[in-house]
Amino acid sequence: MKSIAIIGGGAAGCFCAIELKRRLPDAEVTIYEAQDRLLAKVAITGGGRCNLTNSFQDFRDSDSNIELLEYVYPRGHRLMKRLFNIFSPDDTVRWFESHGVKLVTEDDGCIFPKSQDAMEIVRTLENLLKQTGVEIRTNHRIDIITDLKEDIKVVTTGGKKTDKGYAFLAQTGIEMTPLCPSLFTFELSDRALKSLSGTVAEHTTLSIPKTKFKSSGILLVTDWGTSGPATLKLSSYAARFLSEANYKTQLTVNWISNNQEEALATLRKTIAENRLKKLSSINIEGLTSRLWNHIITRAEIREDIRCSEIGSKQLNKLSTVLTSDTYEITGKGRFKEEFVTCGGVSLKEIDQNTLQAKKHPGIYFAGEVLDIDAITGGFNLQAAWTTGYTVARAIQLV
Ligand SMILES: Cc1cc2nc3c(=O)[nH]c(=O)nc-3n(C[C@H](O)[C@H](O)[C@H](O)COP(=O)(O)OP(=O)(O)OC[C@H]3O[C@@H](n4cnc5c(N)ncnc54)[C@H](O)[C@@H]3O)c2cc1C
Repeated sequence: MKSIAIIGGGAAGCFCAIELKRRLPDAEVTIYEAQDRLLAKVAITGGGRCNLTNSFQDFRDSDSNIELLEYVYPRGHRLMKRLFNIFSPDDTVRWFESHGVKLVTEDDGCIFPKSQDAMEIVRTLENLLKQTGVEIRTNHRIDIITDLKEDIKVVTTGGKKTDKGYAFLAQTGIEMTPLCPSLFTFELSDRALKSLSGTVAEHTTLSIPKTKFKSSGILLVTDWGTSGPATLKLSSYAARFLSEANYKTQLTVNWISNNQEEALATLRKTIAENRLKKLSSINIEGLTSRLWNHIITRAEIREDIRCSEIGSKQLNKLSTVLTSDTYEITGKGRFKEEFVTCGGVSLKEIDQNTLQAKKHPGIYFAGEVLDIDAITGGFNLQAAWTTGYTVARAIQLV
């Protein structure tokens, strides 16, 4: 009879345990959880609503219908692509629905329980753990993995802020890629921009000059800098670069996601149609009037200038600021909604089909402890379900 220790009772650990007992009802499966309860993080996911997966509609190649996973998983996209053949986002939907959870897909592809209550996911998993007979040991932190009596160990201890969190793996010699946070907001120095706190720009493209890092989407101006989907995505794509730069670098904002020529053409047309109006009162799609006024000031143009008075130099300057407006990032800002770790167990250390440690047969990894992380949108939990399922399947086949 197999005896299996699961270290960590979060999304990946609980999912793996349930799948193990479904496949191997006679196996002894024990979850060791450091905290006093299981699934504490799942309970607060998605602002308490639990964005448990995604339809991937925004990340599919329109010709081939293949998921563009490199935009979703900045770390681990190749492995995730392979593992989706074992347990895909559609499988996640079927799995939860087959266990009685009704789901809804929002316009942006994010999938939530219809109850909009993360506790429904927690309760469903907890009930299944009970029904299948998984042994639970809460308040039980594992400090040395090799001390555990079980022959098979599944490490699902989640992301960590420092290497200390992985000390229990020290004797295994398993290589970790450096850790740093992902999914955070940016602190900027520009006071004028920050004074627009609460302003939303609908169609921005953000980039870090002299790098390949770029993201598009809604930008929210905050009293410390920027937030919103475009910022969080860029923080994920550039997580390691930003950490190495000590969160001090430049951020270029293209406020309208057009190139400069397109911006010039739009400006010329709008100005020609509004010759008698003040420049500050014209409407630029996707920009609030406060933001438009900020852009006019950045272009060093008088606020009370009329459209008929604008010369071509000023038009050029305006189009430059609209499409390439650069600010200093001075630090990592706050973001309480979601936070994940970039880095973890190096994917070189594990078998890509079973997630078993190459150096230590019998030790498996699932969830955020692996060097896999995603942008926001349900993709991180999807990685936990997929890797947890993969490990259970692999152990059944041993
Ligand atoms: C506030 C917040 C909101 C989020 N919202 C979403 C969302 O809506 N959608 C989404 O896809 N992702 C979301 N995420 C990310 C997602 O929650 C994680 O990626 C996911 O929970 C990872 O699952 P896991 O099982 O790998 O780790 P975790 O859920 O972190 O579980 C790891 C468990 O291991 C335990 N543990 C650690 N060390 C030990 C040890 N030595 N011994 C015993 N036990 C140990 C921990 O106490 C913990 O319970 C959110 C994250 C945060 C912080």
